[in-house]
Amino acid sequence: MSADDRRAKAERIRHLLDTEGDSVQQNTRVFNDGRYESTADLEDYEELKDEARAIKEDAIERLPELLDRVTESVESNGGTVYVADDADDANRYIEEVVDGRNVVKSKSMTTEEIDVNDALEADGAGVWETDLAEFVLQVADEAPSHIVAPAVHKSREEIADLFNEVFEPDEPLETAEELTRFAREYLGERILDAEVGMTGANFVAAETGTLALVTSEGNARKCVQATDTHVAVAGVEKIVPSVEDLQPFVELIGRSGTGQDITSYVSLFTPPGDSPTFGRGGGGGKGSGSDGGSGPDGPGADDDRELESGDDREFHLVLIDNGRMEMREDDDLRETLYCIRCSACANSCANFQHVGGHAFGGETYSGGIATGWEAGVHGQNSAAEFNDLCTGCSRCVNQCPVKIDIPWINTVVRDRINRGSEGEFDFLVEGLTPDEEPGGIDLQKRLFGNFDALARLGSAFAPLSNRIARSGPARSVMERTLGVDGRRDLPTFERESLVDWFADRGSRVGPDEARRTVALYPDAYTNYVRTERGKATVRVLESLGVRVEVPAAGESGRAPLSQGMVATARSNAEAVYEALSPAVAAGHDVVVIEPSDLAMFHREYERLLPEDAYDALKGHSYEVMEYVYGLLENGADVDALSAGDGERVAYHSHCQQRTLDLEPYTLAVLEESGFDVVTSDVECCGMAGSFGYKSEYYELSVDVGETLVDQFSTDDAADRTVVASGTSCLEQLDALLTRRPAHPVRLLDGR
Ligand code: SF4
Repeated sequence: MSADDRRAKAERIRHLLDTEGDSVQQNTRVFNDGRYESTADLEDYEELKDEARAIKEDAIERLPELLDRVTESVESNGGTVYVADDADDANRYIEEVVDGRNVVKSKSMTTEEIDVNDALEADGAGVWETDLAEFVLQVADEAPSHIVAPAVHKSREEIADLFNEVFEPDEPLETAEELTRFAREYLGERILDAEVGMTGANFVAAETGTLALVTSEGNARKCVQATDTHVAVAGVEKIVPSVEDLQPFVELIGRSGTGQDITSYVSLFTPPGDSPTFGRGGGGGKGSGSDGGSGPDGPGADDDRELESGDDREFHLVLIDNGRMEMREDDDLRETLYCIRCSACANSCANFQHVGGHAFGGETYSGGIATGWEAGVHGQNSAAEFNDLCTGCSRCVNQCPVKIDIPWINTVVRDRINRGSEGEFDFLVEGLTPDEEPGGIDLQKRLFGNFDALARLGSAFAPLSNRIARSGPARSVMERTLGVDGRRDLPTFERESLVDWFADRGSRVGPDEARRTVALYPDAYTNYVRTERGKATVRVLESLGVRVEVPAAGESGRAPLSQGMVATARSNAEAVYEALSPAVAAGHDVVVIEPSDLAMFHREYERLLPEDAYDALKGHSYEVMEYVYGLLENGADVDALSAGDGERVAYHSHCQQRTLDLEPYTLAVLEESGFDVVTSDVECCGMAGSFGYKSEYYELSVDVGETLVDQFSTDDAADRTVVASGTSCLEQLDALLTRRPAHPVRLLDGR
């Protein structure tokens, strides 16, 4: 990316932070908190997710067969099925069906994907969105910024201003009730006038041709029942075998998306419906006859039309391929098709919470999984626009009701984007890089992906290297050519690495007296930059009777993986395994300080190493505070550690540490050692490895970090010692707070 492109991207993000950030943050955090609360009440949450995943895996595996089955079912019910190759094909078919008539629509991202409104309007039809949020966007002529709550970026005040300006009501609209009532009355008229109702479908049951629609408003039912022709548009991936398969999804979808135990409306239609519709004339009829139909102020009030038999109602199911069948054949993108579009991955993403889908989204889809959808249906260029906003923090992983490895999809697509690009400064590095990547990769990515090599060099020439890197001219060149933001402090490399320090010092616990033997993994930051936390770990473990070794194991692969450099990450993983395998084979434990590296061993290595190597390393590796907890539980003496004596601590866990459910161990150890601890509850500190260093993302990173800072600046937390487990979190807190943060192991180190 050129310096100009970086500046333009930063400018766009700044604009969205200023204009939409507050509303997006407020709304998505409500959804996110709601999901945590609502899923906590589900005793069988994990089982339901497994069940949902298995149904989707099976359905996508059997998709061709299910397509045939649903076609048979719908046709035997009296409807028509059309499988559209792409958006143009789908729109051509729908235009023929609509034939210039008025259309009312319920919310459907798939119809957004094919831009059906534009196509129908160009063909002379009137098209009305009847979902309140979609209606707001239609009036405002804006694109959705969220897959479930499309107008999440708009405040009530903005919507009121918009309606008052466009519709000029007698009395200005102000409250949510007034706005909703106005929209309901206005859209009720459109529903009565329309002859075609268009819906999406959350699921399509092949066996019976039943559509399941999960909505928070009753408008979908009205659109279906009050019109003569029903057109349902859905991606082919929405097919499940039978109605019975809907059960886990109904339990999960509302909880995962907006945190509701059950969504307001779960509608099952097996069209064509046969309930009566409004005629085009006559007098005296009231009510739509549908269960989502009118109340006194709904469609039908004071209307003079009569109910007619619905026997001749038409139904068209338009199933969209648009790249999905190719995604099905793609081992890495295939999982995207399991997505039920609940939005949990967006709501649990710190970056999304701050900037929303107008930045963290492509042509149609937004949020964590949007990279997979956009790459699959619109192509890699659309995904490339926002793919880097996924920092791989992994907070979405446990939130996805179908257990999609969303960060992995983002990484793979990033890798593909890297391989398709032509770097403008390629000539500078041709043949000189220590990685496994081809030419063309962005120089900024190459720099951060090779942090280990950079740190090795920086350490070898420290302190000179630190002075040069901090000099004005060097910072200016780095900002211009590499996009390293000049407002970020750079890491200070230590001359003596942790591995060298330990080689000189040796172990202080003999093999015979050792409770356990441990290989301490020296991640690049601990080895070359924050060596103090490595030394503190050695001393703490030894004080608990553990014999420690510190093998030179190299970069875990986290740094290159975060840049989409999968081949380099794989070769790093192989080297790390080779360095640690003697300890593992000897039955020793591997202790890891940096949570993102432990997450590599426990999650990503499954994709990078042979199965037996992955299992062995995962089975033997522990986060340092988790390990200390285990030692204390197994008889080690807490008095051997530095006593907290009631010291007040504000602790921020790490995103990947929380995904691995390891935060409670740090908390337990600190409390057992006598510290008084409060914790943060933000999803991520915003620094996320290299992300906060990148000039195009610096301001977003700081904006996210400020939420954490706010939590540590309350009356109860402002005077507490700040403690954080991750390198990035420490860097971010160091930059944004006046108190210097420390890794928790340093609190336990009596020296
Ligand atoms: S990827 Fe998972 S969490 Fe994200 S929208 Fe799809 S189903 Fe929901």
